[in-house]
Amino acid sequence: MASYDVIMIGGGVMACSTAYHLLKKDSTINIAIIEKDPSYAQSSTVLSDGNLRLQFNIKENILMSQYGLEMLARFSEEMAVGDNKPHVSFRQQGNLFLTDEADVAAAQIGLELQKSLNCQVEWLSPDAVNKRYPFIDPKTIAGGTFGSQDGTMDPQAVLMGYKNKAIALGAEYIVGEVVDVLATNQQITGVRLADGSQHQCRYAVNSAGAWGTSIARKLWIELPVQPVKRHVFHLETNLNPENTIPLTVFPSGLYIIQESGKHFTCGKSLPDDPIGFDFTFNRQLFVDSVWEDLLHYIPACEQVKVVGGWTGLYAINTFDRNAILGEYPSMKGFMLANGFSGHGFQQCHAVGRYLAELILGIELSLDLSIFSPERISNNKPVHENPHKIV
Ligand SMILES: Cc1cc2nc3c(=O)[nH]c(=O)nc-3n(C[C@H](O)[C@H](O)[C@H](O)COP(=O)(O)OP(=O)(O)OC[C@H]3O[C@@H](n4cnc5c(N)ncnc54)[C@H](O)[C@@H]3O)c2cc1C
Repeated sequence: MASYDVIMIGGGVMACSTAYHLLKKDSTINIAIIEKDPSYAQSSTVLSDGNLRLQFNIKENILMSQYGLEMLARFSEEMAVGDNKPHVSFRQQGNLFLTDEADVAAAQIGLELQKSLNCQVEWLSPDAVNKRYPFIDPKTIAGGTFGSQDGTMDPQAVLMGYKNKAIALGAEYIVGEVVDVLATNQQITGVRLADGSQHQCRYAVNSAGAWGTSIARKLWIELPVQPVKRHVFHLETNLNPENTIPLTVFPSGLYIIQESGKHFTCGKSLPDDPIGFDFTFNRQLFVDSVWEDLLHYIPACEQVKVVGGWTGLYAINTFDRNAILGEYPSMKGFMLANGFSGHGFQQCHAVGRYLAELILGIELSLDLSIFSPERISNNKPVHENPHKIV
């Protein structure tokens, strides 16, 4: 039976970033990353849009993204393994959050907070939006905030960067499915895999993404986290803007990302998005539930072709749609990295650092206890602006 200090249950971006940050701070620590599917075909990380934004309304979420920006600036060098330097193709095309009348006040509060933390964000009136992006109908919006530091990257490259560096620093990468989490006297002792093997550890990190609820249930812990299917549609449009278009979120929650020229990806959280582990792609859903919305804001999208797309799972925290981070109160050594609700990819850097510091018991670079599991039992939700994309 192998023995480790820390086992990551699931090997997505949260696990690999945590493993990297642990080993960076303590090269003697013994870590295993256990991943059931090393192709990552269904992992949310590789199926995400890969966006990072500073435009949050909670200070800690902004500070997490700022650390993300710091890491990205040196990612290629810091994650180099020999001559192999990962390139994450970070396109800082900016994010534009458009708002309707009902949401102007909340957007302005967020803007002031972001500015106070030195984020490069500005308010755009409907006319200013129209001047920059004439294809958006200014009558449909009350203005918006533009953040020039926000942007989109290749999430798989970030995952692989952390994974390969963590392995190079000494983490063991095990392909296997965790089917049980073991504990004695409310203290984690190990995990059992589908092949019957057992691995001992003092800390187990629940980094199983949308599967995190079933991992917690092995310890009779109920997390308010549900796997929810989201579609991303790849569109060929007749827009051919001269300037780069920012990732744009419309007041309804619909968003578009310019991939290149007239090619965009597009998505929207729909109230009846199914809960579960279904990954079937339904092209018709665009016509039935998304297209009308897109036409409302961009009339030129009357001419549009769905040329592809995919589905992935959000791990929705139904309590307050924010991360659940830290040790579970009544289970020593059970560390949670769950419930990221659609904005986790960008937080992987700060989450990895935070969990590493908690496990090592060293001074915190950024206190994220606002996202502790205790807030759920204490019924103290921490909400972002509910009108913004999660
Ligand atoms: C369509 C879509 C768009 C998104 N866009 C963005 C975005 O633009 N920006 C952003 O910040 N976030 C975005 N997200 C959210 C983001 O993808 C997630 O919050 C983040 O990637 C979660 O990382 P993770 O490591 O927790 O999960 P995952 O990447 O899913 O990794 C979990 C891993 O655990 C493994 N696993 C599960 N159970 C077991 C087990 N029993 N044993 C072993 N291994 C197991 C899985 O195979 C998986 O590889 C998006 C998500 C989706 C679906």
